[in-house]
This record gives sequence, structure tokens and C-alpha cells, in this order.
Amino acid sequence: MSQIKAPVEPFRVKTVERIKLTDRRERETILKQAGYNVFNLPAEKVFIDLLTDSGTSAMSDNQWSGLLVGDESYAGARNFFHLESAVKNIFCFKHVIPTHQGRAAERILFEALVKKGDYVPNNIHFDTTRANVEVRGARAVDLVIDEAYDPDSIHPFKGNMDLEKLKKFIEKKSARKIPLVMMTITNNSGGGQPVSVKNIKEVSQVCKQHKIPFFFDACRFAENAYFVKKREKGYEKKSILEIAQEIFSYGQGATMSAKKDALVNIGGFVTVDDDLLAEKLKNLLILSEGFPTYGGLAGRDLEAMARGLEEVLEEDYLEYRINQVAYLGRLLDEAGVPIFKPVGGHAVYLLADRFLPHIPRHQYPGWALTVALYREAGVRAVEIGGVMFARKDEKTGREIFPRLELVRLAIPRRVYTSAHLEYVAEAIIDLYKNREKVRGLRIVRESRYLRHFTVRMEEV
Ligand SMILES: *Cc1c(COP(=O)(O)O)cnc(C)c1O
Repeated sequence: MSQIKAPVEPFRVKTVERIKLTDRRERETILKQAGYNVFNLPAEKVFIDLLTDSGTSAMSDNQWSGLLVGDESYAGARNFFHLESAVKNIFCFKHVIPTHQGRAAERILFEALVKKGDYVPNNIHFDTTRANVEVRGARAVDLVIDEAYDPDSIHPFKGNMDLEKLKKFIEKKSARKIPLVMMTITNNSGGGQPVSVKNIKEVSQVCKQHKIPFFFDACRFAENAYFVKKREKGYEKKSILEIAQEIFSYGQGATMSAKKDALVNIGGFVTVDDDLLAEKLKNLLILSEGFPTYGGLAGRDLEAMARGLEEVLEEDYLEYRINQVAYLGRLLDEAGVPIFKPVGGHAVYLLADRFLPHIPRHQYPGWALTVALYREAGVRAVEIGGVMFARKDEKTGREIFPRLELVRLAIPRRVYTSAHLEYVAEAIIDLYKNREKVRGLRIVRESRYLRHFTVRMEEV
């Protein structure tokens, strides 16, 4: 369909999972039953599922075979030692503590470090990170550069922290009130945009001056390192491992959801240098997750995670991965479909308010686009806009909408082929040509918190 070249997959298929395209009439009925909310769809009724890249990766034959050597001893399983060495090789911190996923790592880290009235700066907090800071009675503050919010600005490192904002913030609130600074790589909530090593180094210097610990939210560290190799001067010849090691050398610890760049379906960890902090984390871990050598996971899960962390450093994999996402972006961009630029590491974002200019914000154009995309093509995407993030004005009850009205097409790792992405692109381009037919929505029922998961809608 296009002159743009698709990247060649550096793997071949050994086992397949059937997916079925339902017909449009069936999807219409399913949508009605689901209250026009794609979170309520049975996954088997979705043809191409781009809801998230989290926990949706395909494992390799090497990882699957690792499951069979899972050591299910309660304490000291051999797979823990494998995971520990795989993590230490990349992150180079002294202590490695497995958890069942990323948010569990965040919860124990913040419980150990953060207290009421504190502030935690980040480039942009991911929602679970923000929630785990705020549940401590502290404030989660986003200090990313302004370009991050401009969908047309072509900045190579749109995930960077704004150094001036950070310095001013520390001066205003005082370092005593800031138990740690975090940096999310890549910056998920800002479109999967990378952070440069230069920026990381500068932030670490500011933190060091004020004796504030500096931590990473490292879910997509390998994708970030690949962008550094491609875009940052002086890193062209370095390996992904060397770049990652340099990045982490500027901090004192990291949390990670292994459901992203560790290429597994469940898992996470926290890794830190400080002995006393590690002791505290392990004590908290025992309360909710389990003994410190398994952290709520089976031995086989630890093995798959260790092997995934080794595979994700392979450059041909990363080249294919980043180029596959970019490929979908280019197909859409060349057809005039409005997207957020540049394309990030794990997803393409549609600018729903430009895509559907006839639908006002209070009729949720992003949500309408996810409904239309499922109805027309059986593709599931997710709204990141008014339904997910609007706040209610306490006096008037009116909704205050977030700056951007986006629809995210997140690409699971090693799951879909270029032909699948071409199918998605074609469906979106067709929809764009017939965009005036898409209708807005009104909310029928909603819950007070995280309403997007359960909201029920009808079309206007
Ligand atoms: C997914 C994610 C988390 C949370 O991890 P879970 O495994 O879903 O609990 C935290 N931070 C970022 C940047 C993420 O993408």
C-alpha cells in the first residue's frame, strides 16, 4: 500500500495464536453491551489489540524453555540468582529485589522514603507512580520540558527534565521536603519520548548538590538507550548495554515493571545501592509480596525475566522494535492523519481533537475515535484524554479538560507483523476519510475514581 519500507522481523514464528475478525454487525452489538467502553470488550472479540504494550509481549523460545528450569524453592531459588546477575549487569546497583509488577516496587520504595507533605519531582509521573506518591500524602510534580506538550515540536529528547524548573522547585520547597527525584525512561505519559544521557547527567548533578537521591522509573530503559544511540552525539558506537550502564551510573536506584522491556507477561523489581534502604524495602516486601528472593513471583517467572533482560539488549531486536512503531506512524502521517510527533518508542498517538474537529471536548472525541476504530475494524486502542484525565471544578461541577486529547496505539513487543500494522493504518486512514460520520458520546454512568475503566456511554 505504500512505498515506505517495513522493518524485517529478526525472528521467525514457531507457534501461533488464532485471532478472529468479527463482522461489523456483531461488533455493533458488542459495543452496545460494553457501554461503548473498549475496556469492557471480551479480548477474543478484538482483532488487533493495541490497548497496551504492558505484559503483552511474546516470549522467545529461550524464555519459554527457561520456564522449565524454574526452581520453586521458597527461598534462594537459582532463578533469583540469575535475575540478580542480569539486573546487576545492566543497572550496577548492589541490591536487587523482585516484585510482582512495577507498582509494587513503587509502593515499597515510596513507603520507605516518602512522608506526608513531601514533594517528588519526575519528568512526568506515570499514573501508578503518581498514585503511590500521593497515597503517602506527598505531591507528585511533573517538571518535563515544555516541548513535551507540543505535538508538533520535533525535539529529539522530548522526555527531558526542565533543569531550570527543577532548580527553582528545589529552591522554593527546600531539599528537605524532597526525598527523591525520579526520571521516567522513556517518558510513558509524555508519549514514550526518550531522555538524553546529557539531561540525566545534569539532573544527577543538581540532585547531588542538594543531596537528594536520584532514581529511575526504568520500564523502557532499552528503548531509551536505543534512541540515545541513534540521536545523541558520542553514543553512535556504544552498545545498548554500555549506554544503559552509563545512564544508571548517575542514580542511586531504580524501579522497573518487567512487563515492558523485560519482555515478560508479569514481573518487576526495585534495585538500590544503599544497604539500609534495601533492608527497609525487604521488610516491607515480606508484608505484601513475599520473601526477598521471589517477591510474589514463581521461580519460572524470575527465569523468564532474567532471560528477557538479556534479550532486550540485542540491537537488531531494538532496531526492529523502534522502526516498527515508527513505520505505523509514517503510514499515518503520510496519509495526513494527525499524530503526535516525533513517534515515541512504544506507541503512536492520534491527535483526536484534530482528527474529529466537529466533536466538542465535552463529547469526548478521543473516546469516540476508540469506539469508531473498534466498530469499523475490530482494532482496540485507548483514549488518553478527557474521559481519562478531566478534573471536575469543585464549585461549578464543570469538567476541566487536559491539554491533549489523544488516542494511543500501543504496540505489543514481538506480537504483530508489519501486515497487521498495515491493516491498522488502512483502517485509520479510511476512518479519517469518513471522519464526519463519527459521533460524539455522552456519559450515562461513571465512578468517582479512574472512571475510564468502568464508564458507560451512549452516542449522541
Ligand atoms: C507500566 C508502568 C508502571 C507500572 O508498572 P506495572 O507493572 O503496570 O505495575 C510504572 N511506570 C511506568 C513508566 C510504566 O510504564
